[in-house]
Amino acid sequence: MNQMTLQDRLMNGRKVCVIGAGTMGGGIAAHLANLGFQVSLLDLTEESVRSAFDRTKSARPPHFFVKQTADQVKLASIDNGLHLISEADWVCEAIVEKPDVKRALFEKLEGIISDSTLISTNTSGLELARLLEGRSDSFAARFFGTHFFNPPRYLKLLELIDTDRTDVALLPIVTEFLEKRVGKRVVRAKDTPGFIANRFGMWSMFHAVHVAEKLQLSVELVDEITGPFLGRPKSASFRLNDIVGLDIMEDIAANQLARCPNDPYIGTLTTPRSIQYLRSNGHIGNKVGKGYYERVGNEFMVFDLLTNAYRPAFKQDYETLSSNAKLPFGERLRSALSAKDEVGEFLRLYLLPTLRYADYLKDEISYSITDFDNVMKWGFGWQVGPFETIDAIGSDLVFPTPKKYFVNGTQLKTDESGYSSVPIQPEYRALADYPVTETYGSLLLRDLGDGVSSIEFSTKMGVVTPAGVADLTQFLEEGRKGPFVLSNSGRAFSVGFDLKFFLAAIEAGDWLGIEKALRGLQGLGNKLSQSPVVAAVHGYALGGGFELAMNCQRVVALADATIGLPEAKVGLLPGGKGVTLMRMRTQDTPNVTKQAVVNLAEGATFTNAVEAHIHNYLTDEDTIVFHPDLLVTKAKEVALSTSPRHMPAFKPLAPFVNGMIEEEISRKVKEGTLTAYDEFIASHYRFIFTKSTSYEDLPRLEIERFLVLCQRPETKARIAHMLETGKPLRN
Ligand code: NAD
Repeated sequence: MNQMTLQDRLMNGRKVCVIGAGTMGGGIAAHLANLGFQVSLLDLTEESVRSAFDRTKSARPPHFFVKQTADQVKLASIDNGLHLISEADWVCEAIVEKPDVKRALFEKLEGIISDSTLISTNTSGLELARLLEGRSDSFAARFFGTHFFNPPRYLKLLELIDTDRTDVALLPIVTEFLEKRVGKRVVRAKDTPGFIANRFGMWSMFHAVHVAEKLQLSVELVDEITGPFLGRPKSASFRLNDIVGLDIMEDIAANQLARCPNDPYIGTLTTPRSIQYLRSNGHIGNKVGKGYYERVGNEFMVFDLLTNAYRPAFKQDYETLSSNAKLPFGERLRSALSAKDEVGEFLRLYLLPTLRYADYLKDEISYSITDFDNVMKWGFGWQVGPFETIDAIGSDLVFPTPKKYFVNGTQLKTDESGYSSVPIQPEYRALADYPVTETYGSLLLRDLGDGVSSIEFSTKMGVVTPAGVADLTQFLEEGRKGPFVLSNSGRAFSVGFDLKFFLAAIEAGDWLGIEKALRGLQGLGNKLSQSPVVAAVHGYALGGGFELAMNCQRVVALADATIGLPEAKVGLLPGGKGVTLMRMRTQDTPNVTKQAVVNLAEGATFTNAVEAHIHNYLTDEDTIVFHPDLLVTKAKEVALSTSPRHMPAFKPLAPFVNGMIEEEISRKVKEGTLTAYDEFIASHYRFIFTKSTSYEDLPRLEIERFLVLCQRPETKARIAHMLETGKPLRN
């Protein structure tokens, strides 16, 4: 085998052949196509691949960023797709979880694939060594388990499994490929049943159900305890069961039950009574719309573990949950574990054995406790891994003889023979991992290294306030040496300008105050465009917040960021040069100009950066980051070589564009997608786009028209409604 060639293919190749077009194969194919790979997807027959791919295309949440990407995936039956297999740089198998069927496929592949192709299986937990029986050494040397999680676009964990026959020199190469080019966080796992995620994670899911049944607790109480209170996602326990599918859970458990006869804890994987009952009625979870939960209209019905019937969900108040909620993680759990109520009882019976099981398994299934913790953090969204949890609550609660898992940057070895260092991967550091080095008015600054600092608004969800605008303007005027990254360490880059400010000003008739605020925002936009500032956009980047980003020299956006200028939804317009920049970016092609005005009039937001780019909210000078944990590193990289944005010369629009826009908007009013007041707002966008005479004229018109809209009762009603309900008013 030519190792260099395989390395070269992984670094530079683009062709991936995914075999098996089901839930995982379709999702993996879509994820890879999103990243720009040339993907072919094969299944048993032309018919089966087509119908399976139709399901991939209509999946919710969507696998593709934009629909067009789906057209680039080549579909074929195995028999018609042999050339696609032979030319692939990576053949990624994701067919049914049946060892014989997988083995037969590998036998067939051996005669077709080149000797420098990476081969991987996407099994949930079958033994790789057994799947390789009968295969040549050359095949076995480049064969790995690439255990993606469902849905592959959204879950960043990938368990990488090698065997005794793997060429170990390939491990770092394949790992780097999967991290850098496939956008995953990789954990190397041992070739044991269910690897780390399914062996331990599935056990933890089953155990919660058994304990809930034993204590006769309600589904919603258990979800309340095991969600954010335990540092875990809102899907908690029973919602997660519904998402994964009770059938899949049972299949995975059955495999492990059969293969781990000597594991004293394995009995937990016997099917709980409620899963048996729900499965026998076909209520296997979200894919059939009914499992432990069922959505009926706007209400959630819950399966009652006692009566086997669905009933409306109810919320019980537990002092243990409410009074401890704000405590730091370790204290919170330690306190709840000693509570005398159902919450305490559940945690004692659920959490402590789960932590003991992690300790029992660690050496058998993982190479380090950091890896083990990372699997639960990256694959299951736990904020704190099981070993970190034991340290945080105090191991005296868990074991008769206390022990420490992490000490001063070292980790206990899985066989407990001593401590080893914890691998550091600084490129994946999130903004919150950098300490705040300075507070400047309402701004927080952090030192990102190499002379780059980050700046963030300290407001909730990055809301832009007049005070924040003034602080950032003054900061930039001080002429400090950059470069800077404008971002936020919370869940959102920024949800927009403070609507409370506008409502109060409108109620007071303080038009001058509004004008001043807009001038401040525009002035800050100008400053940002002249300073070495790069916006690192994630979560929500909306309205005035996104306008600031657009003004920065570059935007570096996480692919999954929600981006938009939804001002029309609150009866306003982007008055921080958002309209100006959209006009300048789209002035060359009448249809594109028209679409820009329609987007603004509809208050469009895009659920990902790829779509935002297609609609010119991002430009070719901006960067889209597909790896969920590389935003800060990429933004820093861009900041170190930033320069002013390209600004085209102002061009008057052709006279007919005005009519085109007017016609399109009135068509939308007739079809009912826009209201008469939307049309009124749109007329102001149209005016700015078509009647401006110079670049300098645009921001002036923005302010003028913004003030016109502020004086309308419909706008005031829209803002008030948004502040009250969080939803737009369609008046
Ligand atoms: P699936 O049943 O949805 O899809 C399997 C597909 O493979 C089907 O379209 C089937 O027609 C096709 N197929 C079967 N035999 C084939 C063959 N010989 N050649 C070509 N195609 C063939 O299964 P899935 O849920 O996508 O799982 C696929 C693999 O991924 C399994 O090994 C599973 O254990 C693993 N996995 C599943 C999940 C999950 O959540 N579903 C998560 C991680 C891993």
